Amino acid sequence: MDEKGISKDRVFELLKNYKKRDMTHKSGRILGSMCTCPHEVGLQAYTMFLESNLGDPGLFQGTKAMENEVIATLGELLGNGNVYGHIITGGTEANIMAMRAARNIRRIKDPEIIVPKSAHFSFKKAADILSLKLKEAQLDNDYRVDINSVKELISDNTVAIVGIAGTTELGKIDPIEELSDICNEKEIFLHVDAAFGGFSIPFLNQLGYHMPKFDFSLPGVSSVTIDPHKMGLAPIPTGGILFRDKSYLDVMNVETPYLTEENQSTIVGTRTGASTAATWALLKYLGDEGYQKIVKKCMELTHLLAGGIKDAGFQLVTEPQLNIVAFTGERIEPCDITKRLDEKGWALSIASYPKAVRIIVMPHVKKEHILAFLEDLKSI
Ligand SMILES: *Cc1c(COP(=O)(O)O)cnc(C)c1O
Repeated sequence: MDEKGISKDRVFELLKNYKKRDMTHKSGRILGSMCTCPHEVGLQAYTMFLESNLGDPGLFQGTKAMENEVIATLGELLGNGNVYGHIITGGTEANIMAMRAARNIRRIKDPEIIVPKSAHFSFKKAADILSLKLKEAQLDNDYRVDINSVKELISDNTVAIVGIAGTTELGKIDPIEELSDICNEKEIFLHVDAAFGGFSIPFLNQLGYHMPKFDFSLPGVSSVTIDPHKMGLAPIPTGGILFRDKSYLDVMNVETPYLTEENQSTIVGTRTGASTAATWALLKYLGDEGYQKIVKKCMELTHLLAGGIKDAGFQLVTEPQLNIVAFTGERIEPCDITKRLDEKGWALSIASYPKAVRIIVMPHVKKEHILAFLEDLKSI
């Protein structure tokens, strides 16, 4: 660090140079990310609450009231308005909190969790941090968790089973209803990771798409992850964790000696209230209808893209269930496809199981981007 500061103008000039090197979702060129352009209403609300700290909620009682409202609204969206939870940094923290609650409520030696092979890597972090043995269940031939494989992995030490509503790589929805039956019968904690699907499946249902059940309407579901910063259009970092029972939060409580609340169950201490304000504003501003419009457009473009990919002679890994398309080519490796398209300015990603090019049709992607992409795809 220099001894003397520099002028504000100079600081911002330098910042602009760095910013130029970043990509922006606005360009429509980012096709491999679950993030998107934050909605302007969320952004405005976010900046209005920058100093709000939900780690010390007695000082920010307005923000705390908003968090309670957001949790209730998200709960209603997911089949039960009477849930308990927090707005946190994202799906990773939500999944770690869910696994921590499941572990703490049992307090047994050598706890184990069962996750689908398609689970997000955050469960590996959770297992490591919480000293849980991670058991991976196999998938069926359409990349959803195989129920028999889950059953075979259950032991007396199973503290949680995880189902995914919208897998990160393929957007697949696990048979949560069957997992719910198993967990209800065996009294095992069932966590549903709907980080990606939580903000789209309910609206697709409202629109008359027939989506499988995945939420608190199923009696076996103990907790749900839902990320406002993905399909919810909130600025990052904004995640959500919801629990059916307050006891799941209580078993994570630690005493907070000098703050305005006596106990804290979240992982982070100082926690921005801006994410809560942004989510609150977006839920109010968009309403069911606003989100319906957004997911409908994403799904229409997904089908346009999937059809175009097939017409161009490539093979879909699976028919898209949500707004994710994964494909392969017969005579070209997925990494060569992404490399060739990267040279044309497209930022794609690669699914690991199976190896395939992966595109997420997020709300910033427009029809003109899809058509331009398909032209370039044909040319390779
Ligand atoms: C994105 C995602 C996560 C991780 O969320 P972050 O917000 O990146 O921490 C977890 N689970 C699923 C299914 C996801 O798609």
